[in-house]
Amino acid sequence: MSNLSKKATISDRRRFISLMAQSIGLSALGGMIWTGYIQEAKSAPLILRPPGAKNELDFLRMCIKCGQCALACPYDTLNIAKPGDNMPVGTPYFIPREIPCYMCTDIPCVPVCPTGALDESSVSKVEDGRTVLEIKKAKMGLAVVDEESCIAFWGIQCDACYRACPLLDEAITLEYKRNTRTGKHAYLVPKVISDVCTGCGLCERACVTKKAAIFVLPREVSQGDLGDHYIKGWDKADEKRLKNVSTEVTTQTTRSEKTPQDYLNDDGGLFNNE
Ligand code: SF4
Ligand code: SF4
Ligand code: SF4
Repeated sequence: MSNLSKKATISDRRRFISLMAQSIGLSALGGMIWTGYIQEAKSAPLILRPPGAKNELDFLRMCIKCGQCALACPYDTLNIAKPGDNMPVGTPYFIPREIPCYMCTDIPCVPVCPTGALDESSVSKVEDGRTVLEIKKAKMGLAVVDEESCIAFWGIQCDACYRACPLLDEAITLEYKRNTRTGKHAYLVPKVISDVCTGCGLCERACVTKKAAIFVLPREVSQGDLGDHYIKGWDKADEKRLKNVSTEVTTQTTRSEKTPQDYLNDDGGLFNNE
């Protein structure tokens, strides 16, 4: 695509975002109720939001669909959902395989948000007594690797995702793994560090397979939840969670009256002792 036509496409896109934001504003003035559109969110659990976005429920409550974040993004990463996209209409989202988040250090999409749906405090840190923006704190999603389709797990040398990561060796590392198929060679495979990955999707964009073997999912989808009962005994910081844990065990199943010894001595009628 020539630079001229690329510019035309970008300005068309900006015009579309402005028009959409304006029409949404007019609809809101006319008392239009968004419940129907918010319903569309239920069919879009895989939606990725801009940096600093509140959790999905709060985000949907707070986002006034003004489009300012999308207009501020210099890479046109952020799309505004249209009717039929199966997402809450007017809200911003991005598709990493098309345009990832380039993790701008000044995060221009966040401070322009008029409602705090994109929460500056979640992507800030205190430095020399001043609060400054810190894109490394963003948690837009989490990259996960499909080991079946990642060619590095076949023993083919590939580090495209690793090289593309702006937090190389922090958010993604390359790990040695023994090639049990040949018994001789080693694999070098990507491993995502979940505490550090921002979900920017630059790795997904760079992946060489037809459909990316590394891809970003919202954290609620890609991560499990241990619950409070499992504590890492070797991690002092994790022990703090114990304070809030109830030791009461609740169960729906009626407890057996038998003792453990009863079970050990009971052969279940296997041997006839008569
Ligand atoms: S951080 Fe930069 S590239 Fe990412 S969405 Fe915001 S403005 Fe766009
Ligand atoms: S700037 Fe904030 S309120 Fe406006 S569309 Fe973006 S997230 Fe929603
Ligand atoms: S999404 Fe990929 S490129 Fe972005 S921080 Fe995570 S591992 Fe790195």
